[in-house]
Parts: sequence; structure tokens; C-alpha cells
Amino acid sequence: MNHILIVEDELKLARLQADYLQNAGFDSDCLHNGLEVIPWFKANHTDLILLDLMLPGCDGLDICRQLRSFSTVPIIMITARIEEIDRLLGLELGADDYICKPFSPREMVARVKAVLRRLQVKTTESPAYTFKLKLDPDSFRVLANGQEVELTSVEFQLLQTLYQQPGRIFSRSKLMDLIYQDQRIVSDRTIDSHIKKLRKKLIDLLPDQELIHSVYGAGYRYDPQKKIAE
Ligand code: CA
Repeated sequence: MNHILIVEDELKLARLQADYLQNAGFDSDCLHNGLEVIPWFKANHTDLILLDLMLPGCDGLDICRQLRSFSTVPIIMITARIEEIDRLLGLELGADDYICKPFSPREMVARVKAVLRRLQVKTTESPAYTFKLKLDPDSFRVLANGQEVELTSVEFQLLQTLYQQPGRIFSRSKLMDLIYQDQRIVSDRTIDSHIKKLRKKLIDLLPDQELIHSVYGAGYRYDPQKKIAE
């Protein structure tokens, strides 16, 4: 059974999180003060931490930084403001995902499962990885399983950026900074529409794989997963 550590100072919310996790088959513990986290973590085992940003004692940012200095435990940060997520991504804290309050407990459980599954996939070479992408920067071509597609320069750069750091979430503004170095004024929607076209081409290449995922309120990440028939 996987164990989840809930760090949340709103007692009612912490209890709700624990209930939903229990129903989904997870074991959990709750901490309500930021100062308790590191000592608890050093003395106990957990598989994932749900970490609230605003906490008494020590805030979620500091805790995340401290944890990352000695541990790779999966961390999902929880913040009350959607605008905060962009800033958090920019800080490169090494969190594995972000959830914005208010969230549905169901969505929280889904995100916990997704992060755990993603990390498992990485370490156990799941059959989802039976293909290998090859990116050719000279011709903007992408090859897989003997097939190839041609991308535009922007699509190629987007794919390359995401592909080089699988699992990492890139915000739209980060992607814009990386791709439009000439400071052209582009809107968030520009990135969305390039990603849409890129995804369509990748589906032609690998019809049974979902390669690029959008993370609500946060951005995009590369994370190959076999498509599940609905
Ligand atoms: Ca809080």
C-alpha cells in the first residue's frame, strides 16, 4: 500500500484529503505545521507528499527546497491561487505536479495516481516505452517505428524542449521565452495552437501514444503514455 503524507493546516481539508486517499487505497498521515515536515520525513517512510504552500512555521516553498536537497520523494504542491503556479514553476523547485485550490478531492486522487504511475514507468521500463523518438534538428523531422513526420521550426523546438526533460512541466510563458528569443509579442494562445498542431502530427506518427499532456493551469509536459480506450 502506498503511503501519502498530507501537509495542510486547514484541518477540515486535511481530513477530507485523508478520507479520499483512504477510499482510493492509500495510507496517509497529516501534518499541520511546516516545521514538523522534515523531522517527520527523516523518521518515517512515505511515497508521496501533498504539500500546501501557505503553512504556519515554515512555508511549502522552503520545505520543498529542503526536501530536494536530500530526497527525490514525489511532491505535489498545492496553492490557493492559480497565478501562483506560474511563479512556482519559474522557481524550479523540483515539485512533480501542482494543484490549485479549490480542487475536487477526486482530481487530487487522480493526480496522486498519475505522479506515482509516471515515476514507476520511468524506473521499470514499462511497455509504453517500446518506441524511440528520434529528433533530427537539421530537417525538423521526427522519426519513430520507421515512420516520420515533418514539423515546423516552432513545433520542433516545442517538442525538443519538452522531450529533453520528460515529466517536467513547462509553463506557457517559459515555452515562449525559450522559443521566441527575439522577444516577439506572442500570446499564450499561440503556444496552445502550435501544441495542438504538434499533437496532431504526433498522433499520425504514434497513434496509440499520448506524448504531450496539458496540465491544467500550469502548462505542458512530455510523458509518453499508452492511450486508454474510453
Ligand atoms: Ca494553508
